[in-house]
Amino acid sequence: VSILANSPNHFLRSLSRQDAELLQPLLKLVELPSGTVLYKADEIIARVYFPYAGIVSYVVNLSAGKLVEAGLIGRNSAVGIGALLDGATAINEAIVQVAMSGAAAETRLLRRSVAGSDTLRALFMRHEEAMIAQVQQIAACNALHSLEERLSRWLLQARDLLNADVIPLTQDFLSQMLGVHRSSLTLVARRLQEAGLIDYHRGSIRIRDIEALKDASCECYDAINAHFLGLIGWSPDFDAKALNPSTRR
Ligand SMILES: [Zn+2]
Repeated sequence: VSILANSPNHFLRSLSRQDAELLQPLLKLVELPSGTVLYKADEIIARVYFPYAGIVSYVVNLSAGKLVEAGLIGRNSAVGIGALLDGATAINEAIVQVAMSGAAAETRLLRRSVAGSDTLRALFMRHEEAMIAQVQQIAACNALHSLEERLSRWLLQARDLLNADVIPLTQDFLSQMLGVHRSSLTLVARRLQEAGLIDYHRGSIRIRDIEALKDASCECYDAINAHFLGLIGWSPDFDAKALNPSTRR
């Protein structure tokens, strides 16, 4: 059994004993508030992050201050893997969307470990593939599915990453992530609230009816989960029994 077998982070938990021994000395605990930019597009990625709690969004910046979310990561994987594998700069921006705690390791040190272990490299590759699969699904979702479906899909993903029914975030942030005007988001959120699916407050959303929210979501939620299960063996259900009662008000 690996020394990281009980880690809250699925990547660290998946390491073999030998790979865990390589990584363990490189890991430092971090606490980062929401809004923290981990890296910008075209920057060297100095650290790779392994979230224990919270959500990191990959966003694509367009001109005129517009941006849209291309993917989200939390305790299921790691942030910044791409640069670790190919040594290149970031292709997108990573922002802490819900305050993150976790472990971080310097990329230059991690690269040495990866060079010395085929199994570690393979694990990073599979996690990167899962992320790419998610990004492709969300690109299709953004293009073809209704805002109600996309909002429902996003809330389900966020709930799984946070292991909680209350998602702390502002309307502004969420409308930015979904690439819509705040007024459109408010309309759709109000509809979901009136149907009893969510409670929408200033600064947080509480999920009230998970099954109805799954019905309201498009197929993308299941498709993304299938990729994560197939490629990296992660399913939100694995941790469901660990749901902290204090977070389920
Ligand atoms: Zn969709």
